[in-house]
Amino acid sequence: MSNTLSKATKFAVMNTYGRFPLTVVKGKGSYVWSDLGEKYLDYTSGIATCNLGHVPDQVQAALQEQLNTLWHVSNLYHIPIQEKLATTLTENSIFDVAFFSNSGAEANEAAIKLAKKYAKDQGKEERTEIVTFKQSFHGRTGTTLAATGQDKIHEGFTPIAPGFRYLTYNDAEALEKIDNGRTTAVLLELVQGEGGVNPVDQTWVSELAQICKENGILLMLDEIQTGMGRTGTLFAYEQFGIEPDVMTLAKGLGSGFPIGAVLAKDKVAASFTPGTHGSTFGGNPLAATAGYATVKTMLAENIPEHVQEVSAYFFSKLNELKEIYPEIKVVKGKGLLIGLEMEKAAGTYINALREKNVLALSAGEYVLRILPPLTTTTEEIDEFLKQFAEVMMESEHSN
Ligand SMILES: *Cc1c(COP(=O)(O)O)cnc(C)c1O
Repeated sequence: MSNTLSKATKFAVMNTYGRFPLTVVKGKGSYVWSDLGEKYLDYTSGIATCNLGHVPDQVQAALQEQLNTLWHVSNLYHIPIQEKLATTLTENSIFDVAFFSNSGAEANEAAIKLAKKYAKDQGKEERTEIVTFKQSFHGRTGTTLAATGQDKIHEGFTPIAPGFRYLTYNDAEALEKIDNGRTTAVLLELVQGEGGVNPVDQTWVSELAQICKENGILLMLDEIQTGMGRTGTLFAYEQFGIEPDVMTLAKGLGSGFPIGAVLAKDKVAASFTPGTHGSTFGGNPLAATAGYATVKTMLAENIPEHVQEVSAYFFSKLNELKEIYPEIKVVKGKGLLIGLEMEKAAGTYINALREKNVLALSAGEYVLRILPPLTTTTEEIDEFLKQFAEVMMESEHSN
């Protein structure tokens, strides 16, 4: 087990993460290496972030060139690479314009501000509320933790920011409660990531979108985890026949370089005028370079199509394992955002996999979350399956 951090180093960082006993010092493609030189198959992708694998050549080359030219300039000046990234994102989606932030939470913060301002600009002063869903995850800042529909995230941080109403995901009765006369927007994930890898129901989300449209309520999608090819299309909404007004991105957008974005239709984005919102770093030359190279590579190499192919293979094999090992209760997800509802706590399997040089995650207590890089091959999937089958065999024998 590798954990060579000195005590001093360990305690100089605040204790906000339950860290695994592993120190990663290098990564390439689907693999990472520890400080002890051990090689691991990384099926976490830095939590759905390194979607092109670790240190992808094209993004590395673009960043290296940008490092020699200009790192940062404030948003008070024109930034051509930021404009190029925005153009590429809008040309490949239904949105008209983009705003850049540094993280997912900040992208959601911007979307929430935009929704409130939009209602005011429409003369609907009374519409100040945003509907979100139970088991959702929207971030850790003051406002986005309030948007998140999980008590455990709120705990200890009262008073929680007002203005959010939590309804039940995929629940028919929730649809009737969306418009209470005070709602300005609905914010949701199309597959709840942190909350347990719960895909949205197609009929339910179509009806939800229709209700939003009929009542002038903004439909805002948090695609921070589902976007950037993760579910088999560049953005997950493409698979549901719905037309969101606003979408947030982060995680996979910069291949690990911190960047987030809010994409919006012109009619909504018009509510953001000079002075209403901003960021020092958001979309700076280095971040925008990472984003642009990532999106370009993803499109040039048809990564979303590749995700569909390997995902179908992966799901069929996981379902075969489910038939053999009853500890696997449900196989769920979309594309390469995969959740296995397990008999024992997910941590048990994560630790056993790590012993076999495979990294995986959890989503809630009993869901094992698998987030391979989108560039992963069927050979690597076979490698995962082989180790996972051994873990399952050993786990069932230990009962
Ligand atoms: C990770 C995540 C966030 C928060 O992003 P940060 O970059 O950690 O602030 C918000 N929403 C969803 C769906 C996420 O998966």
